[in-house]
Amino acid sequence: MQQPMQQNEVALKLLLFIDKRPSLTEQVQQIRQHLEQLQGEVPVRLEIIDVSEQPYLAEHFKLVATPALIRVSKDANQTLAGSDIISQLDHWWPRWQMEAEAAAALTPNINGNGKQTESSANSVTHSTEIIRLSDDIFRLKQLNAEMEAQLKFKNRIIAMLAHDLRNPLTAASIAVETLEMGYTPDGRRSDKLTPALTIQLLKHAKIQIRNINRMITDILQAARGPCAELKIAPQEVDLLVLCREVLEAIGPKATAKEQLIKIDIPKDLPHVYADIGQIRQVITNLLDNAVKYTPSGGQIDITALHRTNQKVQISIQDTGPGIPEENQTRIFEESFRLKRDRAKDGYGLGLSLCLRIVRAHYGQIWVDSILGEGSTFHFTLPVYRAYGIPDD
Ligand code: ADP
Repeated sequence: MQQPMQQNEVALKLLLFIDKRPSLTEQVQQIRQHLEQLQGEVPVRLEIIDVSEQPYLAEHFKLVATPALIRVSKDANQTLAGSDIISQLDHWWPRWQMEAEAAAALTPNINGNGKQTESSANSVTHSTEIIRLSDDIFRLKQLNAEMEAQLKFKNRIIAMLAHDLRNPLTAASIAVETLEMGYTPDGRRSDKLTPALTIQLLKHAKIQIRNINRMITDILQAARGPCAELKIAPQEVDLLVLCREVLEAIGPKATAKEQLIKIDIPKDLPHVYADIGQIRQVITNLLDNAVKYTPSGGQIDITALHRTNQKVQISIQDTGPGIPEENQTRIFEESFRLKRDRAKDGYGLGLSLCLRIVRAHYGQIWVDSILGEGSTFHFTLPVYRAYGIPDD
C-alpha cells in the first residue's frame, strides 16, 4: 500500500480519523492490514488523522465519532464508522474500485515531464489546503452574518426615525389647519381665532417644524452612519438594571472617596435597543470619570428620560471641577486630556470609545459643564420596539 504513484493513476483516497485512545491502535492495525489484502487495480492512499490535532478537518468532514474511515471523492465523500468498519469496507470495496478505475480512465494525471501532477501530489498538502479553506469559509460566513446584523440594525433605526416623523408632521398640520379654519373663504378672521390663539398655534407649528428638521438630520446621519465601524449586537436592554449593575462594580471606589451616587431612572422608562456589553462600557467609563475627577464628598447623579418617541437620554452629573467650554468637544478625541488632569491615571481613551460606541448606535453624546460647578455627560440611545416599525 502507499506505493509511489504511477503515471495515469488515480488513487483511492482514504482518511482514517482516530483519537488518542490506546484501544484504537489495534483497530487501526487491522484496517491497515485488511486494506493491504484488499488491494485492487487502483492503488490506495491511506492517511491516518488524529482528530485532536486537526479538529478543523474533523469539522470539515462532519465527523461525529472515531474511528471513521472516509473515502474522499470528487463527487461525494463517504464515511464508514462504528466497530465494523472492516465488514463495511468489504461491502463497498468492489464499487469503490470500479468508480476509481472509471475516474482514472477519465483523468490524464501526468504532466509533460511524466511527473506526478498536482492532483496526485501528497494528500497531506491537500488536507492542509482543505483546513485552510474551510477556515476561510468559516471566517467569511461569520463576517457576512455580522455585516447582515449591522445592516439590519441600521435599517431598523432608519425606519424607526422615518416613521416617527409623522408625529411632529401631524402636530404641525393640525396647527396650520386650525389657523386656516379661523378664516372665512374671503379672508376674514373669525372671532374664535383670538390673537393669543394665533400666536400659540404659530409657535406650536414652528416648534414641530424644528423637530422635523432635527429628525431629518438624524435620519441622514444614520444613513451615512458608521455601520461597520463597531460591531453591534443589539438587544432589548433595561437601563435601570444595567445602571444598577455598573454602580455595584464602581460603588466601592465612590465609597472610598465618600461620594454619594444616586440613580433616578423612572420605572416606566422604555427599554433601549442596544449592545449591552458596549453600553455597559459607556456607563462604566462615564461613571468612572465622574468618581475620578470629583473630589471627596461630592455627589454623582444618574438620570434618564424618554426624550422623544425614539430616543432615551441618559445623563451622569457630577460636582467635579467641570470642563472649560473650549475643550468640551475635544475631550471626546482620542488621547486628549486636560492639562489639569494629566497627573491622574488614564490615557485619554475612555471618552473617545464612548463616542464611537454611541455613534454606532446612531445616538449622540455631549457634555454640559460649568467650570468649578461640575459636568453632566449626556448620551442618547434608540428606544426598543417589540413589534418593529408599524407601517400605517
Ligand atoms: P482619561 O480619563 O483616561 O484621561 P477620558 O477620555 O475618559 O480619558 O477623558 C478625557 C479627559 O476629559 C480627561 O483627561 C479629563 O481631563 C476630562 N474629563 C473627563 N471626564 C471628566 C469629568 N467628569 N470631570 C472633569 N473632567 C473630565
